[in-house]
Amino acid sequence: MNQTLEASTSETPGLVCAHHHLYSALARGMPAPPKVPGTFLEVLENVWWRLDRALDLEMLEWSAKLGALEALEAGCTAIIDHHESPNAIEGSLSVIADACAEVGVRVSTCYGITDRHGSAGAQRGLAENDRFLTDGGRGMVGVHAAFTCSDDSLSAAAELALKHQVGVHIHVAEGIDDLGAADRVRDLSTDDWLIIHGVHLADDHGISGTIVHNPRSNMNNSVGYARPNRFANPVALGTDGIGADMLAEFQLAYFKQRDEDIHATPDDAWSWLAQGWTVFPEARSDRVTWSYAPAEAWHMAFTPTIRAIDVEIDQQAVLNEGLPTRVDADEIRAKAREQATRLHAAIEELP
Ligand SMILES: [Zn+2]
Repeated sequence: MNQTLEASTSETPGLVCAHHHLYSALARGMPAPPKVPGTFLEVLENVWWRLDRALDLEMLEWSAKLGALEALEAGCTAIIDHHESPNAIEGSLSVIADACAEVGVRVSTCYGITDRHGSAGAQRGLAENDRFLTDGGRGMVGVHAAFTCSDDSLSAAAELALKHQVGVHIHVAEGIDDLGAADRVRDLSTDDWLIIHGVHLADDHGISGTIVHNPRSNMNNSVGYARPNRFANPVALGTDGIGADMLAEFQLAYFKQRDEDIHATPDDAWSWLAQGWTVFPEARSDRVTWSYAPAEAWHMAFTPTIRAIDVEIDQQAVLNEGLPTRVDADEIRAKAREQATRLHAAIEELP
C-alpha cells in the first residue's frame, strides 16, 4: 500500500472486506438465545442458525442495503459475501447483488451450502450458486463448513466451482468442532479458494487458497486466536458479518497480534488488509479520501475514528462529504429497522 501513496496523502484505494455475511446486518439487538451458549457450537445453534432460518427475501434485501451502506461509509468498496437463508434460498444471491448495486458497492457473493437441513437443502444451495453464476453474477461457490457437509456435498461444490472457474468460499476450523476439515478439503482446494478463519488449523495444513482472518468475530465467538502469520498461505482480512469497517478490523488485527507477541508491528495487519486487492482486484482502482493523513499503517493503527469523506467506485462518486450519492441513508436505516423488528419477531417464533 505504501508504495502507491505519497507520504502525506489522505487517500487510499477502496478497502476490501474479504469475508462478510450481509444477512447478519439486522442481527444487532436480536432476542436473547433460548439457551445461554457455552461452546462455539452452541453459539451457532442458538444464535446464527436461528437468525438464518428466520430470514425471508424482504428482510435480506434491507439487511444487504444496510450492510452495503455501512461499508461505503467506512471506505470499504468491495465485499466478499457468504450467504445462508435456508428458508429463502432461490433468488437470494440476486437480492444481495441488486441491493449492493443500488448503493453502489462492489460485491461477490455465494450461497453457503450445508447438509444441516438434509441433502435436499445442500442441493438447493448448490443450485442457487449455479443459477447465479450462470446468469453472470459475480460470485464464488459457498460452503458453510466441512463439519456440516457430507463428502459428496464438498466434492459437488468443488466441481461446481471448477465449472464456473471460480473458487470455493468456506469456513475452515473456526472452532474445535471442525478439526477434521483439513483432511477433508485439502485435496479439493485450489489457489482461488477462500479459507475462512483457520483458527484451529495446523501450521502445515496443506490447504490451498487465501486464509481470511476475522479477529473481531473470533473474539466475539471465543474460538481462540488464529495467529495467521504462521501460515504459508496469503492472508486477507474480513469481518465475518460484523459490519465492514476494515480500518477498525485492521486495528483489531494488529492489537490482537501484539497482545500475543510484543514484536508484532502494524505492518503485518496492514499487509493482510492490502491482500484484499488480490482477491478483489477492482477495488484497487477505487479511491477513498479519509478524514486523516497520512493514510499509512503506523498512523492508522493508533488514530481513533478515522472517517471516509469521499469515495469513488469505478470513477463514480458514491460517497460525498460522508453521504451516499445514490441512496437515502435515513430511508435505508428506517426500512432496515422495520425489517429487523419483523426478523426478531420471527426468531422468537421459531421452534
Ligand atoms: Zn463467516
